[in-house]
Amino acid sequence: IRFSDFGLSPDILRALNDQGYINPTPIQAEAIPIVLQGRDVMGAAQTGTGKTAGFALPIIQLLLAHANTSASPARHPVRALILTPTRELADQVAENVKAYCRHTALRATVVFGGIDMAPQTAALRSGIEIVIATPGRLLDHVQQKTISLSQTQILVMDEADRMLDMGFLPDLQRILNLLPKERQSLMFSATFSAEIKKLAGSFLKNPVTIEV
Ligand code: AMP
Repeated sequence: IRFSDFGLSPDILRALNDQGYINPTPIQAEAIPIVLQGRDVMGAAQTGTGKTAGFALPIIQLLLAHANTSASPARHPVRALILTPTRELADQVAENVKAYCRHTALRATVVFGGIDMAPQTAALRSGIEIVIATPGRLLDHVQQKTISLSQTQILVMDEADRMLDMGFLPDLQRILNLLPKERQSLMFSATFSAEIKKLAGSFLKNPVTIEV
């Protein structure tokens, strides 16, 4: 199976070529068609398996395929939100997402705590479709009204088990309450404790389970 078999936009394929990716990894081969179908996903995958591209590529494709039809005055409302437990992972995911959409009109930015909010606010104001964020700082931006999640069509919770270990459950629940009910949700976790399954059950709709 090749990346060109998924019906991805030529602009995405060009970016993959730039990255030097030849073949999809097993989780990519499994996840890309399912995410493109609009299904919710519960994914068991470790870092290093290529899971980031497994969710990022079909999300970019979906955003390209479904032009934003909202009446929002904002030219670039946040359409996809990717939550990660740490700033390091947020940065890494953001670098990947930016590389994959570099030939498209879509724009991505990263938001995490421990640094000044002002540059993040400026980036958000300039118009961004894809936000990669840690939960606490995302909520700071919501409170400051420097971000709106009312147009978010796709949510990814990456490394959900680590987010629970770090005590993010209340923040995650607050974020879930801010998102439109009508959306696609993906959750990735290395482990599936009772708490993780409970969280998954609270926001995933009829999810497809992916394991590699
Ligand atoms: P991840 O598991 O998403 O953190 O990805 C691990 C590393 O593999 C990252 O450096 C990616 O850039 C790289 N990668 C992801 N997918 C592919 C692929 N299909 N071919 C080659 N490298 C890849």
